[in-house]
Amino acid sequence: MNEKLLLENLRNIPDFPKPGIQFKDVSTLFKNPACNEEMLNELVRLYQDKGITKVVGIESRGFIMGAMLAAKLGAGFVLCRKPGKLPGTTIKASYAKEYGLDSIEIHSDAITSDDVVLIHDDLLATGGSMNAAYDLVQLFHPKDVFINFIIELRIEGLKGREALGEDKKVTSLLTITE
Ligand code: AMP
Repeated sequence: MNEKLLLENLRNIPDFPKPGIQFKDVSTLFKNPACNEEMLNELVRLYQDKGITKVVGIESRGFIMGAMLAAKLGAGFVLCRKPGKLPGTTIKASYAKEYGLDSIEIHSDAITSDDVVLIHDDLLATGGSMNAAYDLVQLFHPKDVFINFIIELRIEGLKGREALGEDKKVTSLLTITE
């Protein structure tokens, strides 16, 4: 994978949404067709032989590459959303994140025990949202669960990888240390 292309096109916005946060703005990757192709090809390479039947995207930046990947893998796409957004019966988990508290929900009929699930989000910071999504997905007792991020942030004070634990199957396209 051409990491240089992705790193050159990723925008950093200091102090957003609050002072001290270095916001990694993946919209500058998504607007670039060459970056989309690069990310998608790498994701297909990583997951094409895993038998993935559902890709779960975490709102909202996890929807974009997650849905593209689901189409490529011939898998279904499931939305993990902020509270009150999904119209059907849902299950919910709450968590702390790098800049505040939040909850996520998933439709209670979104996954079955026959599924092999890949949960995708744009970025790993504290790991709070992914752990919450993982816990929700596990309630369905799927055959297997994989986790992917476009970006893994490994900066001082953020222990996302540790928070996810060693038992999970995690990949990241880019690891950023500043
Ligand atoms: P966390 O739950 O702390 O791992 O945070 C990950 C979620 O928050 C992802 O959905 C990201 O989109 C968003 N996020 C957290 N920190 C950042 C950051 N520094 N830059 C961009 N997105 C972030």
